[in-house]
Amino acid sequence: MQNCIFCKIIAREIPGDIVFEDDSIIAFRDIQPLAPVHVLVVPKEHYRSLDELPSGDLLNAGNILLAIKNVAEQLGVSGGYKVVTNCGEPAGQVVPHLHFHILAGKKFVP
Ligand code: 5GP
Ligand code: ZN
Repeated sequence: MQNCIFCKIIAREIPGDIVFEDDSIIAFRDIQPLAPVHVLVVPKEHYRSLDELPSGDLLNAGNILLAIKNVAEQLGVSGGYKVVTNCGEPAGQVVPHLHFHILAGKKFVP
């Protein structure tokens, strides 16, 4: 999608510190990390948020969940990380392209 910062990272139009990529998912380090490990796991297809993920799309949903687990493993934080997705502006979503934060190395509440 035009003017989407994450679509631009996916298309290599702007740089990203990419830690994982396959056909449908990319993961890169957050530009303003809130924890020692702060990585964003992002489906390449542009969905605005979790709300827009088609309800029948078990394959995509499952792939994202497993990618989060695999990326956490690759980053060496298995067993001690938090996963967050901000769904919509009222929840603090700033980038309107579905993404999951992996945060580790610091305690967050909740
Ligand atoms: P949100 O609040 O939408 O859940 O989080 C968006 C995240 O994207 C923020 O943590 C922000 O620091 C990160 N971010 C915004 N622009 C860029 C960028 O150009 N590159 C990277 N790597 N992260 C970004
Ligand atoms: Zn996008």
